[in-house]
Amino acid sequence: MTLQIEAQSTYKRTLKLMGSRFDITVVAKDSTEANSNIDIAIDEISRIEKLISSWDSNSQTSKINTNAGIEPVKVDKELFDLIERSLAITKLTDGAFDISYASMDRIWKFDGSMTEMPSEADIKSSVSKVGFQNIELDDTNSTVFLKLKGMKIGFGAIGKGYAADKAKSLLIEKGIVSGIINASGDMTTWGKQTNGDEWKVAITNPLNKNKAFALLPITDGAVVTSGNYEKYVNFNGKRYTHIIDPRTGYPSTGIISVTVFAPKAELADALSTSVFVMGKEVGLNRINQLPNIECIIIDEDGNISTSTNIKINKI
Ligand code: ADP
Ligand code: MG
Repeated sequence: MTLQIEAQSTYKRTLKLMGSRFDITVVAKDSTEANSNIDIAIDEISRIEKLISSWDSNSQTSKINTNAGIEPVKVDKELFDLIERSLAITKLTDGAFDISYASMDRIWKFDGSMTEMPSEADIKSSVSKVGFQNIELDDTNSTVFLKLKGMKIGFGAIGKGYAADKAKSLLIEKGIVSGIINASGDMTTWGKQTNGDEWKVAITNPLNKNKAFALLPITDGAVVTSGNYEKYVNFNGKRYTHIIDPRTGYPSTGIISVTVFAPKAELADALSTSVFVMGKEVGLNRINQLPNIECIIIDEDGNISTSTNIKINKI
């Protein structure tokens, strides 16, 4: 008797979605199967982008923002639920994570256009429009209301993770047994490599980018690294990142990279941003209290700290 096992290969496509680089990898029997499934994943990510983008003036998110202080906006259940989960993460992080951070983008710009530190008065007034407690959700009518005029929400710290999770579950539904969705460092995997090995992720120190210091397996889970080394400004010898503490209005300092491991990319994405804001000590403490979540923090001096249950085999 001969047992026929269909040979499978790995196929990968790289493209720009949600303003970021996405690498979509699937294991499939041939390129036709791979390409049609990668197309499905791309459509799904584009669909989500249309719903949550705050740049696209036609998105439901933009409608919520333009109606801030005016009236509640009816949204799809999918967006409503994402906002509800975002608020749950705000609770989990004592307010470090807050989708209403977005009104502060009027004063902080991390694209090189800022020439001086905003004044304390400007920072104070920008933070007056920030606050999760002013996001009003109405479950029955599926509406979202931002209570203050000038308030804004944005999914910059959770959207890519959410999109990666959704693309993954859709591909699993279509019968793809193994793959990786990598949204610029927001990565989720399922199944194994064609040689039977687990998918592995290389952790690099941003201060020494070319050399990975650890290679960690990820089995059916997500790993997200926050720390966009291009997006920061220097004032008076201090480095301010594009992640802003919604409670003070000041960008976080001290940490240059946070990697979070979690079952879902959405939570890993949001938590990696939150640890930046919480700082090393509080951040590690909080991560250590959460089951199935681990993290690696690199500070601006290059020191590496990890949560208690993570085992790094340094390479
Ligand atoms: P990146 O994708 O650049 O590696 P993150 O996933 O950590 O980084 O997301 C950073 C983005 O999150 C910022 O560019 C901004 O859009 C948004 N953001 C900044 N501060 C906060 C915050 N305190 N809570 C929620 N979102 C934030
Ligand atoms: Mg994030």
